[in-house]
Amino acid sequence: MSGAQLLKETGPREVFCGLTSIVWLHRRMPDAFFLVVGSRTCAHLIQSAAGVMIFAEPRFGTAILEERDLAGLADAHEELDRVVKNLLERRPEIKTLFLVGSCPSEVIKIDLARVAENLNKQLMGSVRVLNYSGSGIETTFTQGEDGALKALIPLMGESNEDQLLLVGTLANAVEDRLIKLFERMGIKNIKSFPPRQSTDLPSIGKGTKVLLTQPYLTETQRQLKDRGAEIIEAPFPLGAEGSHLWMKSAAKAFSIDKTVVETVLNPLLLRSQKALEPYKEILKDKKLFLLPESQLEIPLARFLSRECGMKLVEVGTPYLNREMMKPDLELLPENTVVMEGQHVEKQLDRVRESHPDLVVCGMGLANPLEAEGFSTKWSIELVFSPIHGIDQAADLAELFARPLRRHELLNKKLLSHA
Ligand code: SF4
Repeated sequence: MSGAQLLKETGPREVFCGLTSIVWLHRRMPDAFFLVVGSRTCAHLIQSAAGVMIFAEPRFGTAILEERDLAGLADAHEELDRVVKNLLERRPEIKTLFLVGSCPSEVIKIDLARVAENLNKQLMGSVRVLNYSGSGIETTFTQGEDGALKALIPLMGESNEDQLLLVGTLANAVEDRLIKLFERMGIKNIKSFPPRQSTDLPSIGKGTKVLLTQPYLTETQRQLKDRGAEIIEAPFPLGAEGSHLWMKSAAKAFSIDKTVVETVLNPLLLRSQKALEPYKEILKDKKLFLLPESQLEIPLARFLSRECGMKLVEVGTPYLNREMMKPDLELLPENTVVMEGQHVEKQLDRVRESHPDLVVCGMGLANPLEAEGFSTKWSIELVFSPIHGIDQAADLAELFARPLRRHELLNKKLLSHA
């Protein structure tokens, strides 16, 4: 393992819950519906996170269980049954229905797995009903995707055919581009999970080689492994270097000739390194503090330090899977502080003490930190932006350069008015 110092802390947290990932999951699988079984707080969160979606009839819904509905457990189950049936009558195009649990105590008491099982019996295969938890007690926002994918795995068929399985939601255009590159290198059978239609699930087995596109799929990769798939060890595809190594690892797993790999990837790498130059000028030697939220923090820190010259003060992550993160951890500079978990007050104190030039954090912390004069970047924006792959390295750097430029401009204005 690298010379990174792996530390842990627990305490009050300030992160979004797993319900947030519904926003990108329902975009990915338009034939799926996410029914949040939760309170008005959950409804509010999901609607504000989804922004414009509330003006059209969204493909995710919120079953709001009022207290009177929850007077007895039987009532809550009945109410949920009624909401689902009503929904499926109105929306016959729904192929997969996810019942998503949340954290109000009334909801925790409902056995969603049993509700799903009963509904599956009644619906007799016309719609598949699954369940997982998006609760803020159990999940941070990207872990919602891990839960949804894990729920889909038992529905995947068995096949020992050789295939490359890209696992994790990517923007469709980015994914198309990556698949084209793999095909040019000679990898033929490439599938994605989650697929673009919830019913189009790939079959898996001994010939499946899994290449993770996102670092927050611990449970999913564990279960794919249990089904016989091999996990390709690689850094995550953020930045030119990371994406290059990611693609090279896949090529190696499929015994693709090195010269072929170089012919396809080297021109891209050179172009991308050149495109990064102007951003390096802005980012070089700037101090960066990453607060834990998305689990993208470690690969991002690796990219921003190695390819953009930023100095890492602390790299927070809500959860650390050491095995999965090993290739990224090994590339971090010696003695980088990696902090798993959160004690938000202590972490904010360390931010104030270390005076970073940029803080990557959740939306809830960004405003107060900005008010104290810090430049911030919302980690949630990174999950919604097409940042994966060699080609996207400059766009990824731009996301971090922008708040620094804005801050500089503001300071200049303030100085000229002084
Ligand atoms: Fe809040 Fe929990 Fe609902 Fe998430 S699941 S919005 S944390 S009440």
